[in-house]
Amino acid sequence: MRPKVKHVGMTTDHHEETLDPRSADEWAALGAVGRRIIDDSLDWLRSVRERPAWRPMGADVVRSFDEDLPRAGQPVEKTYREFVERILPFPTGNVHPRFWGWVMSPGTPVAAFAEYLAATMNPMLLGYVDAPARVEDQVLGWWKELLGFPKSASGLLVSGGSSGNLVALAVARARAFPNVLREGVRGAPSMTVYASTETHACVRRALEVLGLGAAALRSIPVDAARRVRVDSMAEAIARDRREGHVPIAIVGNAGTVATGAVDDLAALAALSERERVWFHVDGALGAAARIAPKLRSKLAGLERADSVAFDFHKWLQVPYECACVLVRDADAHRRAFVHDASYVAPMERGVAARAHRYSDYGVQLSRGFRALKVWMTMKTFGVDKLARLIEQNVEQARHLAARVDSEPMLEREPSGDLNIVCLRWRGDDASNREILYRIQESGFAVPSQVVLGDRFWLRVCISNHRTRRDDLDAFVDEVLRIGAKLEAHRRLR
Ligand SMILES: *Cc1c(COP(=O)(O)O)cnc(C)c1O
Repeated sequence: MRPKVKHVGMTTDHHEETLDPRSADEWAALGAVGRRIIDDSLDWLRSVRERPAWRPMGADVVRSFDEDLPRAGQPVEKTYREFVERILPFPTGNVHPRFWGWVMSPGTPVAAFAEYLAATMNPMLLGYVDAPARVEDQVLGWWKELLGFPKSASGLLVSGGSSGNLVALAVARARAFPNVLREGVRGAPSMTVYASTETHACVRRALEVLGLGAAALRSIPVDAARRVRVDSMAEAIARDRREGHVPIAIVGNAGTVATGAVDDLAALAALSERERVWFHVDGALGAAARIAPKLRSKLAGLERADSVAFDFHKWLQVPYECACVLVRDADAHRRAFVHDASYVAPMERGVAARAHRYSDYGVQLSRGFRALKVWMTMKTFGVDKLARLIEQNVEQARHLAARVDSEPMLEREPSGDLNIVCLRWRGDDASNREILYRIQESGFAVPSQVVLGDRFWLRVCISNHRTRRDDLDAFVDEVLRIGAKLEAHRRLR
């Protein structure tokens, strides 16, 4: 509808400002920039293999970020040019086929389109009557099915595994002692949580944030394969009960961050049932493997958990940030977070006529349309292909392990149920550090590091749909080459 012009002589060109283009010509010019951005970004992804996996920024680039406040604007072409010149060339590197550091997803062009579309539509995922909320419902429904959770379970997309674990442990705490929501933890008994020594640091942080304190975490020893000793966990629970503590949760690992070890989730499920404590699975890295027929049995017991947190932005190829938490008992989940405020109360009709508010299931009120990139990824590629890629990564890890084992100058940490291989040159820690630095700094590849048994290891975590076996062979050759060079240099001295 056009605004009516009341007074003759008054121009329709109002004084109010907007961030949109103001004329058909301006929209067309912006569209040209947009199409160039799409073309450039696809070229950039298509040619990713031709660039180094990582490269350091020069001092001039670093200095270029030290600029004055941009009080006045500039044409978007100029802003985009600056992005192309000093941001785009210096990524973390995880888009590259030879990036195997930490646990990262390379993303896909399809999911990048989803990010653009999500931002264009820009819905607010508190849980109103709109299609985006249906998309999140649908994505959660698919993942309940894939991970063996009942339809009645609740769930939430979150920023990452760290938030997912926090949400789940908050539910466990509120279920054990509903009063803490009102009174805080001060009046409550001493609550304890059990997890292996290999457990990700975010679990400890969750307990700190929840007011239970890091001391509430009982770190249970692991076996030679770095899986939690379930017998030790049972003993710790019994000992704590005798001493007046109240065990509220056990945390199982579906893929530890250091080596990808998967705890015996079925035994942990049985222990939790026996002890009547919440069973949470940190599946940030590895829960995704349950969708892969060849790996599924490794995660047996996951479907008996009270809650699971897992990342889409790790092994499911979705760009940052995106993760999920599922909770079997939807009422317990809601009770831990529900809030009453008239300004977001569900109404009988209209935009807010939806009883299920996502904001009742976590710490975020305003939430973005994370679900779209998962939805477009799953619909476009299909679950079977995502599963095959996970299996492919595991096979690549086995290939790398076999190759390392065949090299007399390399040794390997003999654990890992999934996609992680830890290796080192048969030399001291300093040489292995130097090998890591040279491989990263040359842009040849990006493994990361881990300390196991007081020794420094190169850690290769393959959650990358772009990686090929050749890349891994080339990486081993490069480790051997640098190792031999360091050795020769040392002998000369
Ligand atoms: C990465 C990781 C986390 C943390 O997840 P974020 O998505 O980084 O917040 C937790 N646990 C394990 C096992 C992980 O690999």
